[in-house]
Amino acid sequence: MSTFERSANRIGAPWQRTAEGANLLGPDGSLGVTIFEEITTLANSVGAINLGQGFPDEDGPLSIREAARAAITAGANQYAPGKGILELRTAVARHQNRFYGLQPDPETEVIITTGATEAIAATLLALTGPGDEVLTFEPFYDSYGAVIGLSGATHTTAPLLAPDFQPDLAALEAAFTGRTKVVLINNPHNPTGAVFPREVLARVVELAARHDAVIVTDEVYEHLTFGVQHIPLATLPGAAERTLTISSAGKTFSLTGWKIGWLSGPAELVAAVRTVKQFLSYSSGSPFQLAIAGGLDLGDEFYEGIATTLERKRDILSSGLRAAGLEVLPSRGTYFINVDTSSLGITDATALARQLPSLVGVAAIPVPVFCHPEGAERTRSLLRFAFCKKEEVLQEAAGRLAALQGKLQGKLQGH
Ligand code: PMP
Ligand code: GLN
Repeated sequence: MSTFERSANRIGAPWQRTAEGANLLGPDGSLGVTIFEEITTLANSVGAINLGQGFPDEDGPLSIREAARAAITAGANQYAPGKGILELRTAVARHQNRFYGLQPDPETEVIITTGATEAIAATLLALTGPGDEVLTFEPFYDSYGAVIGLSGATHTTAPLLAPDFQPDLAALEAAFTGRTKVVLINNPHNPTGAVFPREVLARVVELAARHDAVIVTDEVYEHLTFGVQHIPLATLPGAAERTLTISSAGKTFSLTGWKIGWLSGPAELVAAVRTVKQFLSYSSGSPFQLAIAGGLDLGDEFYEGIATTLERKRDILSSGLRAAGLEVLPSRGTYFINVDTSSLGITDATALARQLPSLVGVAAIPVPVFCHPEGAERTRSLLRFAFCKKEEVLQEAAGRLAALQGKLQGKLQGH
């Protein structure tokens, strides 16, 4: 029997299939949960402000929520087609055209998935297996490591280094090998908040073409950039024919619990992903699919508004973190901002993340959990905070964090 080991709580350990049988236990012998679940549970247990797991504390547009309610009342309550409801596939194609000038065929080049998470899983399971390599930047979103492990492929990485978290292009080139089957890019990037410029994306396309690799690009934060333009990888010359683009309604519409995602790209690659996807969830959320179809057509003021609002939130939290004595690293997109806790003399951000909720009443995620062992060492003192929360909540969190330095000193002195 083959299965895979989990690593979410085994900081820095890659997920992998093993020949020995099931091993789903964490280092303390407990059943494993993701770092997001662990920190959210911890935050709730002590009533801390949860700036760990990235979910907004305000729901998305009422018009979309009302549309879901109306769809339920009107009877959209049975299975959607495996590839997704036509209205939503068409709306995704319209969105790709309106914002990026792409023209996917909604019949053959778009599928709807259960969140971006399922699109990522189905893609990696469809395209990779033992002997293949999947290349990602490091730090990487947690599900990438887990699903690459499930597929049996090997996870290779190219580092993103603080403070700006842009890749060294020579290191990126060196990370590609003859076995690189998929290069999985996440832009804008979780957890770092980096947004990759055209020259980085162009190099990815050039290297993928040289090694005949498929590009998978996770752009769930596509509309959440601050003062820099998001460049969809599929729009670069030579990219479209080898690129699968993944996104989701969760972040754009502040509806993370609906789990409606999508994937678009060349028909033969989309067909391969659809084949696997139908045996994962088959299909998802009929009324939610219909409601998101309408949401994607919201006017420009909506799309501009979400980025402006979030940028203001980033600035509030960032001033609070700076005032607390932490070194704040730049965030140009996503829900997240990172700090280097070594400015407070801390060397182990993971240990701090486990104490922070009870210490000051704020929760955050340690960056090493998004890394393999070497990367975990490089990011040992980094902590990720989510700023997708009400402004007053962020102000309150900033106030609580102001006490951090004093509390840490108090701990050192043993009181
Ligand atoms: N990719 C990235 C980079 C993410 O941050 C997340 C989580 N929000 C996902 C994928 C998963 O998206 P979904 O909730 O739509 O499955
Ligand atoms: N994407 C969210 C984050 O990075 C978490 C989603 C989850 O809990 N799986 O915080």
